[in-house]
Amino acid sequence: MSLITLGTMAFDAIETPFGKVDKIIGGSAVYLAYAASQFVSPVHQISIVGNDFPEAEMQLLRDRGVQLDGVEIKKDKKSFFWSGKYHLDMNTRDTLVTDLNVLEDFNPIVPNGYLDAEFLMLGNLMPKLQMQVIQQIENRPKLVALDTMNFWMDTAMEDLKEVLKKVDVLMVNDEEARQLSGEASLVKAAKKIKDMGPRFLVIKKGEHGALLFHENHVFFAPALPLDEVFDPTGAGDTFAGGFMGHLAKTKDISFDNMKTAIIVGSAMASFCVEKFGPERLKEITRQDIEERIQQFVQLVNFDINLV
Ligand code: AMP
Repeated sequence: MSLITLGTMAFDAIETPFGKVDKIIGGSAVYLAYAASQFVSPVHQISIVGNDFPEAEMQLLRDRGVQLDGVEIKKDKKSFFWSGKYHLDMNTRDTLVTDLNVLEDFNPIVPNGYLDAEFLMLGNLMPKLQMQVIQQIENRPKLVALDTMNFWMDTAMEDLKEVLKKVDVLMVNDEEARQLSGEASLVKAAKKIKDMGPRFLVIKKGEHGALLFHENHVFFAPALPLDEVFDPTGAGDTFAGGFMGHLAKTKDISFDNMKTAIIVGSAMASFCVEKFGPERLKEITRQDIEERIQQFVQLVNFDINLV
């Protein structure tokens, strides 16, 4: 079992109704790696950082079985920087700053040691870079998943449509599914998006859970109702890491196993939001994850006997 993860390794500045941080480690690939490495080893990371990204943070990832051979260090540039402010409901946010920095001239190279990976998670990044990674892997992985966001729909829609033709699973939130398809109804949006390429579509709905569409099937997983959502940053990437980590571990890409993967992804995301940045993901153990998955089972488990 092996999984390639692609995305940003970044600094974030985040403001939520509960607090504010000016500089914290973030990036789609950081969250992906923390979540996936709970299930798969090694995780083959592809990303780029500047001269400012702490070596100690790289070491924490290596300690979890994340291989960083595919992470380029650009000595004369700064790491990607993103800043966002959440609204009171914590489901919606405004992006305040996106400084591409090292991303401006990033040419991802897939190291030879990664080439036999069976699972590929193209985390949130420029669509043309996601495409470059697909093109370098001659033996097509068993499953290719892609995450993206409104920023790339606004700035690189045509590139995004090209790369969508090459992927099996697309993961977006409800707002992004509507933007991509031009449909208000998520069911209609799912149909249109499936015609663009992906056989499977995951639509994340924040605190309202996630939907999985495939052919004429649809599955719904709730999000765990939590006392406190501290910082939702990275929840989508953490979800994707748990989802792909589970699939890569079990090597089973059936619709039924994807239902389990959605629960695993939701459980991982529920930890992510409990602290700022990826801090909570650094602490959790296998037992914490198992207990949380049981909470999900209880949440949706009921007997019904219609008389
Ligand atoms: P999420 O909350 O799952 O959408 O992920 C938030 C993380 O994605 C933050 O840590 C950011 O550093 C990173 N991020 C924000 N915008 C982008 C972007 N346009 N491309 C790639 N990564 C991004």
